Amino acid sequence: MTGADARCNGCTRCAMRCTDGIVISAFELQRIRAYLRELPPAQVLRVLAQEKRHPWGEEASYTACLFLDVETERCLVYPARPLICRLFGRVRHLPCPAGLVPADLDADRILEAYAAQPRGTFQHWMARHGVFSVTDLLGGARLSR
Ligand code: SF4
Repeated sequence: MTGADARCNGCTRCAMRCTDGIVISAFELQRIRAYLRELPPAQVLRVLAQEKRHPWGEEASYTACLFLDVETERCLVYPARPLICRLFGRVRHLPCPAGLVPADLDADRILEAYAAQPRGTFQHWMARHGVFSVTDLLGGARLSR
């Protein structure tokens, strides 16, 4: 844990920023899939089956990230989360919403290299590789509800 990480007290104010449409690389998708296979299938199924669309004020709504546990407001795949999620709060473009962590990383070069890779949403990669069901996402694991 770095000094900046130590100042993060685990508040849930980041969770509201975990919206659908995060773009990731193919490598990141593979890492997430591998991590999901290590988790109890019932836990994975519970989170992936949650309603992710929520009201935002009186007239708007937003859709949470597929991997956001909307009950606990925690990330299901936190140890395998994509780079963009790891940089949240640490770079000037993505400041900590609670102001607890300084945006002290100069990540411009990292982000340029990252942006040069083919990237897509979780749904994009799953559709492209012909996997779109929860069962396929987990690599064919048998799930019990
Ligand atoms: S992968 Fe995890 S940290 Fe990244 S947006 Fe989704 S829930 Fe949030």
